[in-house]
Amino acid sequence: MFDAAAVAEHVAEVRARIAAAGGHEVELVAVTKTFPVEAIRAAVAAGCRSIGENYAQELVAKAGALAAEGWAEGEQPEMHFIGHLQRNKVRMLAPVVTVWETVDRAVIVDEIAQRAPGARVFVQVNVSGEQQKHGCRPDEAAELVARAAGVGLRVEGLMTIGVMGDPDAARAGFRGLRALATSLGLHGCSMGMSDDLEIAVEEGATHVRIGSALFGPRVRDGRRDLR
Ligand SMILES: *Cc1c(COP(=O)(O)O)cnc(C)c1O
Repeated sequence: MFDAAAVAEHVAEVRARIAAAGGHEVELVAVTKTFPVEAIRAAVAAGCRSIGENYAQELVAKAGALAAEGWAEGEQPEMHFIGHLQRNKVRMLAPVVTVWETVDRAVIVDEIAQRAPGARVFVQVNVSGEQQKHGCRPDEAAELVARAAGVGLRVEGLMTIGVMGDPDAARAGFRGLRALATSLGLHGCSMGMSDDLEIAVEEGATHVRIGSALFGPRVRDGRRDLR
């Protein structure tokens, strides 16, 4: 049995952490990768309206199961795709994804525009320059944002994954993302996870993506997808 009461408690704790860091109207994206659909139900029951998933097949399977059971009026959450996007997965994802957070190259922009016209997107930026991370370079962001807008996508902001285990480097990266987004006229900044959400909120996050602080440790560690 998935412990929905514990999830509700953890959601309250995370909201308190966001508030303590000075966050106002920060959207909590509940990251349910590797967890069963009951985790999504529990997060929604606890008031989360945004769900994050990393893996195309897993998201499509869960969305199918949830749709079959149905949603109460107004309960259906927005699904955020937060994993590395492969072009050949965009088509299967298009019917179930609400917000595409990991748009990081032109072919992905064009594919989403074709399969999900007018979709809501974030452009993923690799602000730390770490080789193993996805995301465009900061100096490529303006062009990608313009391209996405040009093909009719709704660019809501920028997204990044913080440097792990180095709070100062994470802060510098988040500050850079916030400045870049603002300079491009974008409100949204999706940054901060369970371990660095306070830093991200202090630096102006509008969306934090939280998994383990809500649902506990992952057995199949989704962090491999951060690479
Ligand atoms: C897994 C994941 C998260 C959530 O990470 P936690 O440390 O469990 O909060 C956030 N963002 C992305 C892109 C992820 O892959």
